[in-house]
Amino acid sequence: MLSLHQVTVTYGAAVAVDDVSLELSAGEVLAVLGPSGCGKSTLLRAVAGLEPVSAGRITFDGGDLAGVPTHKRGFALMFQDGQLFNHQSVGANVGYALRIRHRPRREVATRVEELLELVGLAGYADRAPATLSGGERQRVALARALAVEPRLLLLDEPLSALDKSLRERLALDLREILTRAGTTALFVTHDHEEAFAVADRMALMRAGRLVQDGTLAEVWEHPADSEAASFLGYPTVLDGSAADAVLTAAGLPVGDGVALRRSALRVSAEGPLHGVVLSSRVTPDAVRVEVDVPGVGVVASVTSDGTAPPSPGQEVRLEVARNRLAVIPRR
Ligand code: ADP
Ligand code: MG
Repeated sequence: MLSLHQVTVTYGAAVAVDDVSLELSAGEVLAVLGPSGCGKSTLLRAVAGLEPVSAGRITFDGGDLAGVPTHKRGFALMFQDGQLFNHQSVGANVGYALRIRHRPRREVATRVEELLELVGLAGYADRAPATLSGGERQRVALARALAVEPRLLLLDEPLSALDKSLRERLALDLREILTRAGTTALFVTHDHEEAFAVADRMALMRAGRLVQDGTLAEVWEHPADSEAASFLGYPTVLDGSAADAVLTAAGLPVGDGVALRRSALRVSAEGPLHGVVLSSRVTPDAVRVEVDVPGVGVVASVTSDGTAPPSPGQEVRLEVARNRLAVIPRR
């Protein structure tokens, strides 16, 4: 549906987006994940028609978008700050795009109710934006963006301004809302947890370039390189002899790098790796233990269910779960 073919966007001599090719199918949510400054917003703005493309081509449903102005693309945009009209009610904000298209009042009112229901704010139509929490404001902004059933929804870090617990909840709600509305969306974020919570597919960007893309599982299970693995949220990423030691302990061939989920390393009396506990911490999910393993370095691990947290200085052994690690092919 949306197709980017070798797209480059420059600001003067600076290349912000460098030769990026991407495909997005109808009804799919694609997360573009990358650190701050890597070119995510620029890419989104180019798709929206807010930034000229200096090389390459962007097409939608087969039609070239070059020369199609922003307001004729049929896309909707949503930003970190939903930019609500504060002097208008929630209902008026949500119905704004329908009113300027001169839809009948009755129809607008019905659609506004539907949209508020969709985003979990039924009954909020008469509220003033100033009386809403940050999360509620972003829900209103989302309802407003969805009002005209955009062909494509472009979301630029829509949850970044919210606090962590709200962000996690709203990320899951956002996925549910987009899926239920059947919206095709391009979602840009620097937060891997958000990307995994919201998207079907992921594109990893770094310094203007596309590092890898695929389904969530493909990207998670096969990080392109160590840096990608760290950015995807693997707490331990090893290469060289450190990786060899862990791969050997896992019964795997050596020579590649390895990224380990925390639960890939478990404190166990029989484990093949030996180390010294640096710290341990009880969390709702697991007891998290940092262990210094000679020849490997400091790694993140967990204890087996029900065992007491080991104390700092204690010697422990670790076993490696090979289904909880990702091998990173040496380049
Ligand atoms: P991200 O959204 O991933 O944080 P941006 O797309 O905003 O990244 O920025 C990518 C690069 O382009 C950065 O180096 C940034 O400083 C630069 N940049 C962004 N907008 C402009 C602009 N209007 N003029 C010049 N440089 C810009
Ligand atoms: Mg940005």
